[in-house]
Amino acid sequence: MDQTIIKNIVIVGGGTSGWMTAALLVKLFNKQLNITLIESDAIGTIGVGEATIPPLQIFNSVLGISETDFIKATQATYKLGIEFQNWHQQGEAYMHAFGNIGRDLGFTSFHHYWLSAQANLSQSNPSQANGSQYIANDFWQYSLNYQAAKHNKFQPIQTIAQAQMSGITHAYHFDAGLYANLLRQYSVQRGINRVEGIITSTELSTDGSIKSVTLQNGPCISGDLFIDCSGFSALLIEQALGVEYENWQHWLPCDSAYAVPCESTSPLTPYTKATAHHAGWQWRIPLQHRTGNGIVYSSQHMSDEQAKQHLLANLDGKPLAEPRKINFTTGRRVKQWHKNCVAIGLSSGFLEPLESTSLHLVQSAIIRLTKLFPRNGIQPQHIDEFNRQSQTEFEQIRDFIILHYHLNAKQSADNERGLWQQCRDMDIPENLQHKIDLFKATATVFRHQDELFTEAAWIQVMLGQGIIPEDYHPLTQAVSQDDLTDYLTNIRKVINTTVSQMPSHKDYIAAL
Ligand SMILES: Cc1cc2nc3c(=O)[nH]c(=O)nc-3n(C[C@H](O)[C@H](O)[C@H](O)COP(=O)(O)OP(=O)(O)OC[C@H]3O[C@@H](n4cnc5c(N)ncnc54)[C@H](O)[C@@H]3O)c2cc1C
Repeated sequence: MDQTIIKNIVIVGGGTSGWMTAALLVKLFNKQLNITLIESDAIGTIGVGEATIPPLQIFNSVLGISETDFIKATQATYKLGIEFQNWHQQGEAYMHAFGNIGRDLGFTSFHHYWLSAQANLSQSNPSQANGSQYIANDFWQYSLNYQAAKHNKFQPIQTIAQAQMSGITHAYHFDAGLYANLLRQYSVQRGINRVEGIITSTELSTDGSIKSVTLQNGPCISGDLFIDCSGFSALLIEQALGVEYENWQHWLPCDSAYAVPCESTSPLTPYTKATAHHAGWQWRIPLQHRTGNGIVYSSQHMSDEQAKQHLLANLDGKPLAEPRKINFTTGRRVKQWHKNCVAIGLSSGFLEPLESTSLHLVQSAIIRLTKLFPRNGIQPQHIDEFNRQSQTEFEQIRDFIILHYHLNAKQSADNERGLWQQCRDMDIPENLQHKIDLFKATATVFRHQDELFTEAAWIQVMLGQGIIPEDYHPLTQAVSQDDLTDYLTNIRKVINTTVSQMPSHKDYIAAL
């Protein structure tokens, strides 16, 4: 049994993942660890990663960074969800709004009651039952986040007590470079040793673990545990240790992106936009000082030049730089912890930013490492458990992203078998197929283990992508039609009143 006390930590890379790792470790372990972070200004960082999901609030709060300081330092805005335009069919839109929808009754989720009401409605007025889009659109009347988002409003509301409903659930859009600077300052002030330079070689011990890394300008830095935050180059986990990468492009064929900032426009929308095009999709992320944009596409279905032109033609402000090209391979590192090296960030795998999950994966890997941090030597059990949890997490998020592509009814512009048809026809992972079949037949959604995405998230995307369940829960029949109507009317009323009293997103930020 290895008894080496883990004391000297070397983090390779100073992108968002490197500095998030450094900040959390120094905060939690304080002087127990000697932490060195190596980064290279000459190589730089990926420079994208501006949309997040709600758990980032917890990360900042553990660090003791207040929301106001964070918003000011990173030019951040609030994010209430992601609007998907043209994903099911051209001209349609829906939102994955964070938080709950409606109000559950006992063990029965709100959407069963809503489905029951829709069924009553279509029996009494068949003309209103035309088209899944009409039915699905109605669902978001019961989402406080959606209604606030579409009215460009924001206010942090915990609960609506009198209606026993939850309040607003938010995440952020922020400038990733400014966030890394904030965390760098935070970490250096607390004793992290920052080293600037390019690593040119990695030295291994006889047992195959990493002994040290050597920089171009001379120093050789040794450590007990190495954290590979070197981005897509995966300097340690792949280049030095040869850990393989599992490719998921057969499910998620997009492999390229261009990113470009543009001038801000009004109103300041509190949500991300993801607009599908014929070979992928385009993001729009509003910050205080600019809007982040990018196009994600499959190079088999769109040329680089076409992608660049499409991106520039669909900006809503003047571009502030030349579009920057980024290539990627969707997939995951087969072992994210191997020997004495843990890969965090882009070196550990990549899922396209459709649900803004990469920084969350960084956060959750750091927390996992913290929970499994070895006291008396690295044991195989630490490594196996870390890798098992990482695999489950990556696969669950992968399936949620595949869902958006697979459930589409889009027509190809020509007779070729385009990206959308390919995604519609492909075999999907078994767990995902099971989830879709279950929802279609029974309207039921179950979350497995610590699955990131909530029931409400799955329901919204499945409804938005055109599934109207064939049945709903029998307990809905215990409520009379009149009571059901009152219950739904009351929820809508509470939401509309709450939203009407909220300040605009722009005013709320200005007041900070
Ligand atoms: C197109 C695209 C859009 C994205 N959008 C989102 C989003 O909206 N939301 C989200 O959560 N995530 C998003 N991501 C992911 C997000 O950008 C990354 O997860 C995040 O930036 C972390 O990157 P990183 O720190 O792992 O790597 P990088 O930012 O690439 O950092 C790597 C670091 O390693 C250093 N380094 C590399 N090699 C060496 C060497 N030889 N010597 C010394 N130092 C070295 C570099 O200098 C740098 O400091 C997106 C990614 C892409 C590709």
